Amino acid sequence: MLHREVPSFPSGGAREAGVVPYPEDVVANYRAAGYWNGRTLPAELKAAALKHADRTALVTAEVTLSYRDLYASAEGFAAGLAETTGLRPGDAVMFQMGNVVETVVSYLGSLMAGIRPVCTLPQHGVREISVLARHVGARGLIFQADFGRGRLPVHARELLAEGVVDDVIVARGSVFDSAVAYTDLLRIGMSVDPADLPYRTLDPGQVAVFQLSGGTTGLPKVAPRLHEEYAYNASAWAGKLGWGPGTVALYPLPIMHNAGISVALQPALLSGATLVLAPSASIDTLLDLIKATRPDVIPLVPPALAVRLLEEPRSRGTDMSSIKDFIVGGQKLAMEITERLRDVLGIQVRQKFGMAEGMFLVTPRDASEQLRHHTVGAPLSPADEIRILQPDTDIEVADGEIGELCVRGPYTIRGYFRAEQHNAEAFTAEGFYRTGDLARRHVIDGVTCYSIDGRIKDVINRGVEKIHADEVEELIMRHPDVANVALVAMPDKVLGERGCAYLVLEPGTQPLTVESLSTFLLAQGLAKYKLPERVEPVASLPLSNVGKVAKKELRDDIARKLAEELTSDA
Ligand code: AMP
Repeated sequence: MLHREVPSFPSGGAREAGVVPYPEDVVANYRAAGYWNGRTLPAELKAAALKHADRTALVTAEVTLSYRDLYASAEGFAAGLAETTGLRPGDAVMFQMGNVVETVVSYLGSLMAGIRPVCTLPQHGVREISVLARHVGARGLIFQADFGRGRLPVHARELLAEGVVDDVIVARGSVFDSAVAYTDLLRIGMSVDPADLPYRTLDPGQVAVFQLSGGTTGLPKVAPRLHEEYAYNASAWAGKLGWGPGTVALYPLPIMHNAGISVALQPALLSGATLVLAPSASIDTLLDLIKATRPDVIPLVPPALAVRLLEEPRSRGTDMSSIKDFIVGGQKLAMEITERLRDVLGIQVRQKFGMAEGMFLVTPRDASEQLRHHTVGAPLSPADEIRILQPDTDIEVADGEIGELCVRGPYTIRGYFRAEQHNAEAFTAEGFYRTGDLARRHVIDGVTCYSIDGRIKDVINRGVEKIHADEVEELIMRHPDVANVALVAMPDKVLGERGCAYLVLEPGTQPLTVESLSTFLLAQGLAKYKLPERVEPVASLPLSNVGKVAKKELRDDIARKLAEELTSDA
């Protein structure tokens, strides 16, 4: 086991290799305005825990824990790391954990030990974990042995054997040579005095957590989230939504993802609220938990999950009257779904837009339907700045025109970790992050708000004409027989790409053909070149680890089918 030097932390803003710092005057402004407070994330979390010690912090499928008990375990975990592993402040640890109590304890415990969690998912394979661990320099791994089909212990041994990591912690399973059991680590740590845990002396300008960017191409892109800004992100969200003691937030998605940490775990624990962690995103689990815990808020529902909720007959018999905020985000939400949620289930949707790099937008709770249904609202912080630029330029488009959403602010990173070359393209010279999303600025009811109108990254390039999948999907969703749709590019020898629509049809309806769908879409005013040129009926759309439609899977599927058809024609 390696024992490394404890790095010394210079104070005042990030000064760490691989991290693009916020300029010093910006740091000073954020502090002067009270957005940042010069304290670290674990110090903020611990202060809230002391204030709300007897309240319920966490409910999982297996346990209910008060703030006092949750932090007793987290501090035990932090002390146990130092006693049983070679991990030291400044090190990073890879996570492969599901929605269980051990995940929350080890995430908080790592923060208190000054060790940076890397928010990888249990679905990641050895290759992804190796690449990311090497990229951030992580030397530790914590995994949940009983997750999924039990492949993680095999992976962990491989990662140890290949020297990718030195320290492995096994939660919920048998321990093996060179690894330490979570239960042993906790038992040993809990017998140690937690008075001098490392978090008390960390620099608030340093990296607290490594998040993975939603980007899917190229080298791994890692968002280094710094103590002060990450704590502000969560407290701004809790403040915007009015969370406090008594608030019950139900989270149905994987918690070890930026969304889970920033819209659920950290805002709940900073505000004295209760977090209910669903063990899976199945509709049955969700409905059972709504019934059992009567949540005030479901802070993030991907549109695909909202559709499943609408399709599930049990939903209509479930009392959802406790839910004040049902927040849909992560992907463009079709108007059709918003209206059906309102008409069928009585749910008034709020929309959210967000990303691992920082910036969140949300629609105000009492806003008009025009604002809530057509836009993702306004940014979280008064200090958030948005520019809508012509892609790859610094030229702003006129209000109401589509351009690339570019963002900067007190919780948006200034650069990816160790990615100098990519940062030069992904950020403007003034530090605005080019999101790759297309957006428009509107003023509705006196509120400046934004609509998301496609993604630069999800464009079908048909010859030189571009088709924005979102635009076509939204129109297809208006067809009464369509329950869900994903439009993806299929390879074409002549045009490069053409559009293929994967369709989930309402039960008992006739299959749609390219012709019948085209007639419908032309009647909706869609340009002919944007018509899908193939339809693929499916029972449901595949979802990624975090509940978004896995378009890559669909693109691979159609490419394979086309190749097979070509071979059988030959
Ligand atoms: P991630 O970093 O995985 O959270 O993904 C962030 C990306 O998800 C954004 O850049 C958008 O492309 C997409 N996204 C998030 N929220 C929305 C939304 N409400 N509408 C459309 N796209 C969204």
